[in-house]
Amino acid sequence: MTRILDVTTSVLPENKPRYLMGVGKPIDLVAGVIRGVDMFDCVLPTRSGRTGQAFTRNGQVNIRNARHSADPRPLDELCECPACNGFSRGYLHHLVKSGEILGAMLLTWHNLHYYQELMNGLRQAISINKLDNFVQSFMEMQTKGDIKAI
Ligand SMILES: [Zn+2]
Repeated sequence: MTRILDVTTSVLPENKPRYLMGVGKPIDLVAGVIRGVDMFDCVLPTRSGRTGQAFTRNGQVNIRNARHSADPRPLDELCECPACNGFSRGYLHHLVKSGEILGAMLLTWHNLHYYQELMNGLRQAISINKLDNFVQSFMEMQTKGDIKAI
């Protein structure tokens, strides 16, 4: 995708909005923005939320994994969404594993909030000409992962 974006964005007019359909994961949004894409749409944050997947600053979390069953941490410790401010990973794990619709709702809410925050951060970084710094920080946090140090 990035190889094709390199080719296509280089010939698109810079004064027109650029839309990339069906993308995608946070890292793909960042890769698109770096190449001049302005708009995205994708089912991923909502579909993933309904299936127990959360996108966080520290990478993707599968809340269905047993390692979350007694984890008192929120999905994302820096997130201000209601899911991260009222519910532990352990409780979200219970909700999702039990098939409670509230689990899907909370993970979807979190994912949409995270995507909004990510795009807001990208817009702000572009406005102050610090996109490279933002991307470097994003990549460091994504690769750090979310496994709790013991
Ligand atoms: Zn959250």
